[in-house]
Amino acid sequence: MNGLLTKTARGLPETVPFVGPETQERGRGASFKARIGANENAFGPSPLTVRAIRSAAAGAWMYGDPENHDLRHALAAHHGVSADNIVVGEGIDGLFGYVARLFVEPGVVVVTSQGAYPTFNYQIAGSGGRIVTVPYKNDREDPDALLELVRGEGARLVYLANPDNPMGTWWSAAEVQVLVDGIPDGCLLCLDEAYGEFGPAGTQPDLDVSNDRVLRFRTFSKAYGLAGCRIGYAVGEAGLIRSFNKVRNHFGVNRLAQAAALAALADQEYLSGVVAKVAAGRRHIAEIAAANGLKSLPSAANFVAVDCGRDGGYAAVVLEGLLQRDVFVRMPGVAPLNRCIRVSVGRPEDLELFARALPDALSHAAGPGR
Ligand SMILES: *Cc1c(COP(=O)(O)O)cnc(C)c1O
Repeated sequence: MNGLLTKTARGLPETVPFVGPETQERGRGASFKARIGANENAFGPSPLTVRAIRSAAAGAWMYGDPENHDLRHALAAHHGVSADNIVVGEGIDGLFGYVARLFVEPGVVVVTSQGAYPTFNYQIAGSGGRIVTVPYKNDREDPDALLELVRGEGARLVYLANPDNPMGTWWSAAEVQVLVDGIPDGCLLCLDEAYGEFGPAGTQPDLDVSNDRVLRFRTFSKAYGLAGCRIGYAVGEAGLIRSFNKVRNHFGVNRLAQAAALAALADQEYLSGVVAKVAAGRRHIAEIAAANGLKSLPSAANFVAVDCGRDGGYAAVVLEGLLQRDVFVRMPGVAPLNRCIRVSVGRPEDLELFARALPDALSHAAGPGR
């Protein structure tokens, strides 16, 4: 069997970037009571979006429009670009798979930060790319160091998330623009703006679709509350965007997701409400952390990195204590980021469960034998 695999596939580990909470629930034989670990939007999609999905349900026997025409045009109007500047795909994760197929083959060098979004790396590795990393600096991705490594390695792709996952930190539009302007010939910046809607004003550079050195990635999974629908998009220069048609799964975006995304985009009032609730939730998480003597990082996303104050081993025990108390959270994968646990903004009742579980999880972590 192994002999059938490509050389690249043979070299891949059998690990996944994220083990789903469902897998963990099956393993422990019990459900989580607070699902605040995957940066989902627990406030859910807008009622108008739910209604649109319902109305589309009976039409599920039809394939979706392979050109995503209506959604691309609605997104174009929303962003003030042309529909030729937008490709819709199965979430940002799916689009990263296409990026890997388009730009990466064995030996191609790709630059990212150590501890940054692992699904990007997963897709790059799937095409045989060689990933090289720079560390975070003060819990932020470090644009200057990324650029320096890009130049030193002759990298073809470079990744930055703004706001960042897993730390929630961010750069201003002007600072990101410096990175965009510094991308050398032969390199493409993958700017992941999955949390773009949550950031303060002035976090995103203006869209310049004449620049073929940057692709911007957006999703309906986070602020719009449609993670289970699997739909996102990339914005960029028309030639770059057209190239996705060579590799994408043309019928990959399902019809219900198309209807949902159109309705969600049209309901900007609901989106603003969610963004306000998320901001309040971030403050609440910080208060809960502070009440337990813990610091938390400022965040421009829908989650907060809570600094457990010691090393990754300690944070892992705190995390374990929360999981045992039916609170699903996650933590960054590498030091020094892994001194934190990452808590997604949930509904008030979810954060209440977190507030009740955290003191016990902390005393469990500090307990005898540790
Ligand atoms: C959640 C997340 C994504 C995934 O988005 P999908 O559209 O659901 O695939 C991409 N990038 C970052 C940084 C994320 O946190």
